[in-house]
Amino acid sequence: MIHILDLNFQNIRESIAAFAVETDNGPVLIETGPHSTYRFLRRATKLRGLEIKDVRNVLLTHIHLDHAGAAWKLAIGGADIHVHPKGSKHLANPDKLMESAGRIYGDSMDTLWGKMKSIPENQIKEVADNDIVSIGGVDFKALHTPGHASHHIAWQVNDSIFTGDVGGVKINNGPVVAPCPPPDIDIEAWDKSIEVLRKADPARLFLTHFGEVSGRENVKAHLDQLQESLHEISDWIKPYVEEGESDEKIIPEFQKKMHRHLKQNGATIGMLEQYEAANPSWMSVAGLKRYWKKKAAK
Ligand SMILES: [Zn+2]
Repeated sequence: MIHILDLNFQNIRESIAAFAVETDNGPVLIETGPHSTYRFLRRATKLRGLEIKDVRNVLLTHIHLDHAGAAWKLAIGGADIHVHPKGSKHLANPDKLMESAGRIYGDSMDTLWGKMKSIPENQIKEVADNDIVSIGGVDFKALHTPGHASHHIAWQVNDSIFTGDVGGVKINNGPVVAPCPPPDIDIEAWDKSIEVLRKADPARLFLTHFGEVSGRENVKAHLDQLQESLHEISDWIKPYVEEGESDEKIIPEFQKKMHRHLKQNGATIGMLEQYEAANPSWMSVAGLKRYWKKKAAK
């Protein structure tokens, strides 16, 4: 039994999710959301008849704050935290991660994300590619899927895949878009990861932003649309980067383009807010700029 938990991030519905999978060894959480929404995580879990204190295992797709920021709270409760080997050091010592987030978010840090405290190393479990983590009769397979983040895992359970951010953002009946925050956007790696998802042939995707895509045909269409969106935005930004355009010019244009695209594909005004909360335009501009600059420097 899989539960989608709405974390009500910034009082916006359906922008960030966590998931609870029931097993014989307690509920397993996939993602925790940020620390700032921990109370909603607890409440949403309770509403499903589950208790956060019974969570013995947390599976993270990656360590961005909107996915993993509350993992340390679950660790205090005794849970093991399963993560990509390249992400583990930031859980053991989150200072660097929080410092760089602090440079970006400044005074809003606390209200947006809350805190991130270190997790004892014996509770951090590194998971290799294609490893299967068996918990209470349920097998969770780790698909290493870089592109959005170098340390990204998509978790497969039977014919479902929890795609974190590598499977894109899709809210309600809006279009699929590719979230591209810094620092490690890698378009080539992302293409390969989409192929990994296709090969696994899932009947359902669970997106952290936000919810379920069900049916093999819908999943196929979703992944096609994701890839198209990814290339569209990265190709769009490339000449701006080559010409050394300023963020002041690129960000508003990118946002305008994004909003046009969302509206043309059925997004309402309220949904634009949900999309921005889940996937801020200025972050994608920063991430894609960094990608092209790195590539040019190679
Ligand atoms: Zn992310």
